[in-house]
Amino acid sequence: MSDDATPKTTNPLAGLSLTFLAADATAGTAPIAAAAASGGPVAAPVVIVGSGPAGLTAAIYTARANLAPVVIGGVVGGGQLMITSEVENYPGFPDGVQGPELMSLFRRQAERFGARIVDADVDRVELGSRPFRLWAAGVEYHADAVIVATGAEALWIGLESETRLRGRGVSACATCDGFFFRDKEIAVVGGGDSALEEALYLTHFASKIHLIHRRDAFRGSKIMQARAASHPKIQLHLNRTVEEVLGAEHVEGLRLGKTDGPGEEELKLDGLFVAIGHRPNVAVFRDWLETDEKGYLRADGATTASNIDGVFVAGDVDDHRYRQAVTAAGEGCRAAIDVERWLEAQQAQEVQRAQGAPEATASGARTATSR
Ligand code: NDP
Repeated sequence: MSDDATPKTTNPLAGLSLTFLAADATAGTAPIAAAAASGGPVAAPVVIVGSGPAGLTAAIYTARANLAPVVIGGVVGGGQLMITSEVENYPGFPDGVQGPELMSLFRRQAERFGARIVDADVDRVELGSRPFRLWAAGVEYHADAVIVATGAEALWIGLESETRLRGRGVSACATCDGFFFRDKEIAVVGGGDSALEEALYLTHFASKIHLIHRRDAFRGSKIMQARAASHPKIQLHLNRTVEEVLGAEHVEGLRLGKTDGPGEEELKLDGLFVAIGHRPNVAVFRDWLETDEKGYLRADGATTASNIDGVFVAGDVDDHRYRQAVTAAGEGCRAAIDVERWLEAQQAQEVQRAQGAPEATASGARTATSR
C-alpha cells in the first residue's frame, strides 16, 4: 500500500487505526514542492482531481476526516463558477454571491482543514493497480483512492469564423468579457439557463442584446425566460441559427439562418457570446473509466463509485442532468463519504487477511476490482 520512504500517520477514523500514505497536512503544499524538486512521488490517502464545488467539497469532507487530501485543481482552478457572475440559488447566500467569490470561500474552507491544493493540470493517470498514480506538472502522485471531479467545459458552435474571432469579439464568458462591450450591441446564442443568464448579465454593459436560439422555445427555467423576455435591452430571435460571424479583425455582425423557413438575415453588432452547453472533462480518464452515451463518466448511482474500485466520480463530469453548484457540492460530499468508508473497508480487509479470516464486505463499499 505504501512507499516505505513516505512518512506515515495514524488516523483515528471511525474507531479504526488506519495507516495512511499521508504527508503532513499542516505543512500545506511545502512537501509537494519538495517532492517536485527531488523528483520523488507525493503520496496521499486520497487525491482529488478538480477544484470546482464538487472537488472542494470532497476536499473539505476528506480533510475533516483527517485524510490529508491533495487536490490537483487545474491551472485555472475553481471550475465553471469562476466564469459565472451572480449566483442567486446557492443556499446560504440570500443576497446572491459572485461565482469566483463563492469558489474562493470553498477553497479557504478546504485549506483551513488541511487540504493541499495544487494549481496544476493532471496530464496522465495509471489506475490499473494501487496505489493509483497520477502526474501533474512533472510531479508524480500516489493515492489509495481518487475522486475525479473535473467538471465540464463550455461548447462552441464550431464555425471557422467563430474560432478566428475568439478574443476579438467572440467569447464564452460574459463575466470575463462583458465589461468590454459597454454601450455596444451584442448577441448571445443558446436556449438554456446559461444563455438566459449571460444575456441578463450583459444588460449591465451592452446597449442591446440579441438572444438567438435555434428552436421556437427556450429550455431554460421559466423565471429566467420571463426576465429575459421582459427586459427592454433584450430582443429574442427564435428559430435562428448563427451561420457565420462577420468581420475580418473583429466581430462586425452575424449571418443568421432560419429554421422556420427559407432565407437568411444579417445583424450588425460588435460581439457574440456563445452559451450552448458544456462537455465533460474526461480526457485523461477516458482509457480507464466508463463513460455514458453523452461522454460523461459513469458512477454506479447508489454511490459515487466508478468502474474501478477505489476511484470515485463527482460533479458535472458525471452529471448532465442537474449541473448545479449545489448538486455538484452534494456529490463531492457523497464521494468523500464513499472514500472514507472504502478506506475503512480496505483496512478491515487487511486486518482480516493478516489474521487469516475470510473477507467481509463493508456496507456501501465494493470489493471487486471492477463492476
Ligand atoms: P443546456 O444544455 O441546458 O442548453 C444548451 C442550449 O444551447 C440549448 O438550448 C441548445 O439548443 C443550444 N445549443 C446546443 N448546441 C448548439 C449549437 N451548436 N448551436 C446553437 N445552439 C446550440 O446548457 P446550459 O449551459 O444552458 O445549462 C446547463 C445546465 O446548467 C442546465 O441544467 C441549467 O439549468 C443549469 N444552469 C443553471 C444556471 C442557474 O440556475 N443560475 C445558470 C446556468 C446553467 P436546443 O434547445 O435546441 O437543444
